[in-house]
Amino acid sequence: SLSDVPKRYVAIIGGGLVGTLATLYFAQRGWDVNLFELRKDPRIPENSENSGIFQRSINLALSVRGLSALSKPNLDLEKIVLESAIPMKGRMIHIGKDKLSSQPYGSFGENIYSVERNFLLESLFNTVESFNNVKIYFQHQLKRCDFDKGLLEFENKEDGKLVQYTADLIIGADGVHSTVRRQLMRIINMNYQQEYIPHIYCELTIPPKVTEKGNETEFIMDSNHLHIWPRHSFMLIALPNKNKSFTCTLFMPHENFDSIKTEDDLITFFQCNFPDFIQLIGEQQLKKEFFHNPKGSLLSIKCKPYHYRNRAIFIGDAAHCMVPFYGQGMNCGFQDVELLDSIFDKYNITSFRSDDDKLNLALEEFTNIRQPDSVAICDLAMYNYIEMRSRVTSPLYLIRKKVEDWLHWLFPRRFVPLYTMISFSTMRYSDAIQRWKRQRRIFNVTWITVSTGIAISVFWRYYYRRLRW
Ligand code: FAD
Repeated sequence: SLSDVPKRYVAIIGGGLVGTLATLYFAQRGWDVNLFELRKDPRIPENSENSGIFQRSINLALSVRGLSALSKPNLDLEKIVLESAIPMKGRMIHIGKDKLSSQPYGSFGENIYSVERNFLLESLFNTVESFNNVKIYFQHQLKRCDFDKGLLEFENKEDGKLVQYTADLIIGADGVHSTVRRQLMRIINMNYQQEYIPHIYCELTIPPKVTEKGNETEFIMDSNHLHIWPRHSFMLIALPNKNKSFTCTLFMPHENFDSIKTEDDLITFFQCNFPDFIQLIGEQQLKKEFFHNPKGSLLSIKCKPYHYRNRAIFIGDAAHCMVPFYGQGMNCGFQDVELLDSIFDKYNITSFRSDDDKLNLALEEFTNIRQPDSVAICDLAMYNYIEMRSRVTSPLYLIRKKVEDWLHWLFPRRFVPLYTMISFSTMRYSDAIQRWKRQRRIFNVTWITVSTGIAISVFWRYYYRRLRW
């Protein structure tokens, strides 16, 4: 009987957004889970401030893929997160000194949501803790793995000692510089590609506005938009926070950052490029944050495979780090967890060590399905990098977008804009790209035919009149 079969242990490395969600899914499947996280518990305020969590975007855009993964375990997570999320119905483009233009995301009033990274992480940890088959080890840094023996060696950051644990399955959710991935590279033929973009980023905060009465605060700009200041070779974006502030991110080549050496350089640069922004943030705040806040680099990682036999798999940024311009990194990582769970369901993988061959097949299937999708979204994120900082202001882009939105409104199933497929559906990223390319071909042919038709009829009418005269 199954009660005689030993239970499986899964070790999840990395208690970031993806690792904690994966912990929840495995705990619900009845597995015994050990979650190892390098940092201290982020729920203790002094820890989160020093832990580096705030070095990575304070808030994030959450969309349908992420929400779908949060809703599956039926633990009210989606509800908890949405209650403190701020809906964003479109982009608000800031042009010149004070011109604003709203570009809705969807034709049917769809929203993406601004959520605070730390709140999301705390909610995940609180839910994880309610399972008694989960143990969390903070301040444990993975150093080495022997995947065949299922042996893991950690440095306990509290006392500097090395400690060992065993696991039947190892899940690497340890982010962009994943140790699990690096350890696996030594024993399997892994293809690996990494690309840094020239832009780095710095976060700035627009504080809430104090009302005229002076006892309350309000948002200083429209809070239901993602604000963008596109300036071609660089850009600034702002997402609203629950406390009525905005977290802004300046993306710019590092040479531009390097050229701003003094406070005067900074103010001149902002007056020239983002004149309305200085008023929103205030000179003092801008000077303080620009020089004090860390600058982060941005890279894209593609690799294959993601698994090793029935022993290990890595997910989230560890498997497919992407530049943040589609707002999909976390959403995609959450979808990894949901996909892995559905494949486990398909192969009927239990928490007992009785079906190792099936587990091997399941992990292999995960690589085969997910890898083309990860490549697709990494490429799309690069593509959106140009769209956001440059194309959004081009008149041709705006006409095209209007026509696309209108076509989608008329034929909601037949014509679906790319952004809608990525942010408001759970369809495979690779299918979305295929479909987009097909639609674009049809769209371009129709576009050329219609504009040629109009040109011919204008031309014809002009000559017709002249002939009659
Ligand atoms: P991480 O969040 O990096 O977590 C990895 C965890 O592993 C960390 O807690 C780390 O301490 C731990 N760890 C690392 N090494 C070890 C080790 N050896 N041993 C033990 N633990 C270890 N995504 C979106 O969906 N929407 C957005 O709007 C968005 N905006 C972004 C803006 C910026 C500027 C950036 C940089 C990213 C953005 N992303 C966004 C991407 C998103 O932040 C990531 O995709 C997401 O955080 C990935 O989660 P993860 O759990 O895979 O990795």
